[in-house]
Amino acid sequence: MLPVGPSSPPTDEITPGDRDWREDAACRGVESSVFFSPDGERGTARARRQSRGKQICEGCPVLVQCRDHALSTGEPYGVWGGMTETDRRRHARRLGRGEHRPLEPRHPRPTSAGTGDAASW
Ligand code: SF4
Repeated sequence: MLPVGPSSPPTDEITPGDRDWREDAACRGVESSVFFSPDGERGTARARRQSRGKQICEGCPVLVQCRDHALSTGEPYGVWGGMTETDRRRHARRLGRGEHRPLEPRHPRPTSAGTGDAASW
């Protein structure tokens, strides 16, 4: 399931006739608990959940749109576009220091479900 909840993209930004990129999300139908941390989650459980979310993102045809949305809106929580909240904060700090690293997946894959290692940002 696409990360949905209080911080999900507002659908009123979509004008009639536009195709919503979320319709092609690889996470449609996947429990949102894969992408969002439950209260008190830490350590290995958190890392394992985030890795699973990133694996799903790896095979997503709309990874770039999702990631760009999360970065541009400052999504504070969850795995979006293969990036955790920590990844996004790290990316923002790098940008603040003038560092520009490419955000494309190192090993882009076609639209099949991700089964390899999680992307590392
Ligand atoms: S990149 Fe990940 S979180 Fe974003 S739509 Fe695709 S599978 Fe869902």
